[in-house]
Amino acid sequence: MRRRVLTVLGATGTIGVNTLDVVSRHPERFEIFALTGATQVERMFEQCRAHRPRFAVMSEPAAAAALRARLAADGLAVEVLEGAAALTEVAIAAEVDTVMAAIVGAAGLPATLAAARAGKRILLANKETLVVSGQLFMDAVAASGAELLPIDSEHNAIFQALPRGFDGDFQRAGVNTLWLTASGGPFRTLSAEAIAAATPEQAVAHPNWVMGRKISVDSASLMNKGLEVIEARWLFNARPEQIKVLVHPQSIVHSMVEYVDGSVVAQMGTPDMRTPIAYALGFPERIAAGVPMLELMGRQLTFEAPDTVRFPCLQLAFDALAAGGNAAAVLNAANEVAVARFLEGAISFGGIAASIAHALDAVAGGRADTLDELLDADHRARRVADDYLRCSYA
Ligand code: NAD
Ligand code: MG
Repeated sequence: MRRRVLTVLGATGTIGVNTLDVVSRHPERFEIFALTGATQVERMFEQCRAHRPRFAVMSEPAAAAALRARLAADGLAVEVLEGAAALTEVAIAAEVDTVMAAIVGAAGLPATLAAARAGKRILLANKETLVVSGQLFMDAVAASGAELLPIDSEHNAIFQALPRGFDGDFQRAGVNTLWLTASGGPFRTLSAEAIAAATPEQAVAHPNWVMGRKISVDSASLMNKGLEVIEARWLFNARPEQIKVLVHPQSIVHSMVEYVDGSVVAQMGTPDMRTPIAYALGFPERIAAGVPMLELMGRQLTFEAPDTVRFPCLQLAFDALAAGGNAAAVLNAANEVAVARFLEGAISFGGIAASIAHALDAVAGGRADTLDELLDADHRARRVADDYLRCSYA
């Protein structure tokens, strides 16, 4: 067993907290080099006390100052860094071999990409990184020899259901289709009118998973599944038509791989992110995750087709994937802006899809071979979506 030295990007978030929960069950296996957060000083302080990292990064300078004072008052020797550049520093430090990438949104891209270029083992929760920079990111992983282990439950399930060492060659592995399951979110059975008028409180009340607010809204709009389709395209080198979505409201089957011989290999479990996190932390060994074992006795598992009419965000993501170029970066950026405005109460739920469609029309179509081109598409899409939402009655 090799002792692993970890940086946890986004430690104060839902995935970060679950990661530290698994880590604390195996003190002999893991050592924390750095933890990062944005604004949650008290939670970061508690994490520093429990895990004694060398560094704590707060991307917000005011939060960093408050954390320094808090740590000093308690006599804890943790060095506090601040700003976005420090996220990259602690992700590529020579001492670190494993990086949990769990910042939400494109804000996580620079540090996650840097970890890929530095050849780290990357536990990838930050799906937006792959959506924005898929080809560039996968090229960086291949060039450096970085190791990529998916944390997103669907992709982790597919990773487990594929042959060990799968290299992206579907034909050689005998793979037909990757089946991504979707819970359908809190609005699965609502009418289009009820969905368009939904409130932030309704949108973040996910039936099966406890998650950050942004991904919870994405789950309600099915944009989360759309982002995951794009994520699967890059992680597994799948063509768009080799990825299919199936709504499975119980969230027991986390995803499936269909093979040419008719076999369908699924990964199942209690819906708890500590399972995919523990799988990736321990890989290739299995380690305890603290998750209650799946109780299938008396359970019913059901499956239905996704409805892209009531959930246009899923269709927009399929369209962006088909369009290629900068379209996925535009989709992601417009979605981030719209979700933030929706959570502020400034726009309706229906305004999310409308503003993304508008941004795709206005900005998509450009090339996206370099990080600069991708960031330019991201910035322009944010401006266009923001203007649209300020000027329309979305
Ligand atoms: P969260 O909102 O709970 O946590 C986000 C983390 O990112 C926090 O630590 C926050 O401090 C940090 N952060 C936010 N903005 C930042 C910025 N601008 N700069 C630096 N740090 C910043 O989110 P989460 O639910 O933990 O999700 C994290 C990522 O994992 C997302 O990409 C999400 O799609 C993905 N994911 C989450 C789940 C889940 O169950 N929560 C499942 C699959 C994938
Ligand atoms: Mg998922």
